[in-house]
Amino acid sequence: MAATSTSAGRRTLADSAYTELKSRIMRSELVPGAKLSIDGLAKQLAFSQTPIREALARLESEGLLARRPLSGYTVEPLLSAAEFADLFEIRMMLEPLAARRAAERGPDAPPEPALGNGDERADLLGAARTPDPSADKLLFTEADRRFHNTVADLSGSAQLAKSIRRLDAHLHLHRAYIGPEAIGETEAEHLAIAAAIIAVKPLAAEEAMRLHLERSRVRHREAFAAASASAAQAAEAARPRRAKAAR
Ligand SMILES: [Zn+2]
Repeated sequence: MAATSTSAGRRTLADSAYTELKSRIMRSELVPGAKLSIDGLAKQLAFSQTPIREALARLESEGLLARRPLSGYTVEPLLSAAEFADLFEIRMMLEPLAARRAAERGPDAPPEPALGNGDERADLLGAARTPDPSADKLLFTEADRRFHNTVADLSGSAQLAKSIRRLDAHLHLHRAYIGPEAIGETEAEHLAIAAAIIAVKPLAAEEAMRLHLERSRVRHREAFAAASASAAQAAEAARPRRAKAAR
């Protein structure tokens, strides 16, 4: 009993350290390239080293951190232009297919045991909603991720659902700033996808998902261009000082 509650307590600590660090990465308070020391983070966040270690390993597995022998953890850079294009090309192949399959299965299809308990369809409209624009960015990221994973699960294909989840698209895309108007547009597009799935209209569901990804690509492309311009500006601002110091 005591051992169980101790390990549950440790789990909770590791979870809070994970959420706190992830939120700092998503808000760019921990900037791309920043070096993270376990000791420093433990002091800063008032945690012991074990939960920090667990949190860092989890963030590494999600691709937000990189770990190099001897030098420890660093924050991964934002997606490059090529990675960004790749991510959307792959999503365009997988996600409209998932939406079509979800609509094809119809509202009375038995739940796929590998894909949850079948409550997803009842909550598809709920999952399509996005939080208020003033809410923390992580809540929007989480809501967007949940909707896409719900559609993936409703496809009835464990392979397809696994492939979509593995991309961790929302995590990587939402690191660049997107304005509050994007949240409202996203909700309207999600609701159109959900409505087509509920109405058992496979082609409409496929098309609605394709349209959502296309619009999302445009919204994120602008955000990424702005983020890389400001990163370039910061590098430019740092340059003359270094040049002077070298002389
Ligand atoms: Zn979405």
